[in-house]
Amino acid sequence: MRNILFLLTIFLVFQNCKKNPDIGAESGVYQVDPAFEPYVQEFIAEGAKRGKTIDFTDSGLIVEFSDGSVGGASGFCYVGEHHVVIDKSEWTALSENVRGFLLFHELGHCELDRGHTNLKFNNNVWKSIMRGGELEGFEIWIPIPYFGFRKEYLIDELFNENTPAPTWANQTFAYNEVPEANKESIKVEENISRINQRFSDLTDDYEFEIDFSLINDRANRTKLIWGSTNNHYYIEFFPETGFNVSGYFIGVHQDSRDNGLFYSKNTININGEEVNKITVRREGGFEKVFLNEQFIFHIDEQAAPIQTVRMESTKTDGAIDTAFEIQRFEAKKLN
Ligand SMILES: [Zn+2]
Repeated sequence: MRNILFLLTIFLVFQNCKKNPDIGAESGVYQVDPAFEPYVQEFIAEGAKRGKTIDFTDSGLIVEFSDGSVGGASGFCYVGEHHVVIDKSEWTALSENVRGFLLFHELGHCELDRGHTNLKFNNNVWKSIMRGGELEGFEIWIPIPYFGFRKEYLIDELFNENTPAPTWANQTFAYNEVPEANKESIKVEENISRINQRFSDLTDDYEFEIDFSLINDRANRTKLIWGSTNNHYYIEFFPETGFNVSGYFIGVHQDSRDNGLFYSKNTININGEEVNKITVRREGGFEKVFLNEQFIFHIDEQAAPIQTVRMESTKTDGAIDTAFEIQRFEAKKLN
């Protein structure tokens, strides 16, 4: 349940971003808690790179922790003031990357006078880190991929709403892009209930392919991770009636946190079938995820060599479900 609660935390981050001004920064007062200073400096630097001079000497700036709860939000900005308040317990629960994005979002309101914008690209990825406010239904679960090669565009867009769509917005890759002759099988396992593979010398590009049946117990969570224990990518399924969210997330695990980068509620309806095949391929500088041989999402190549590939289905009490059926796991090097 911890991950569910955490997801709720990060995706409710902006529900209460804007409050009516009742206490504002006194003109010219700069009072930023040391915890937030690096992010404010990064905001100034990113603005400067884009020809925007961010100067708080005239307006002042207050960025502080709230004394208590800020109405279920992680942070908010007093509209028309240069005053950001962040909930301390939520801040503690956020990874470095999400902290930066929370501060940039709030400074987007407070310093750039931006409101919320909830537009998405074709693949259901938010166009702006200023998404927030009124979100309908499952949309609240869709994370912002403020990570890796997508960050530059998202910061461009923060400072300039008219930034053209990035190349990754409509990028797609073919399942058959790598000829079979260029693949060398290095590991096969069949008819198992979990994958727990270690790799020590896999520095080449690779492909992991897994054929499986999503568990019938719809409360289970089924998760594949690849990378290292403390720093990896993941894909996690919450079948249709599980908890209060269904679908799957693709994300990155850093700073002991899972950060969703992509969410889809469709665990069935991929080529007309329930998800039964995952292909993870590192090629061309990306890690590409295919489900049922259909391209879904790509992420930056991981910096460190892959050490572990794990997949298991977990019951509500946290126990690994041995009834999970993995028909086949195969690891290949790509030449
Ligand atoms: Zn907001």
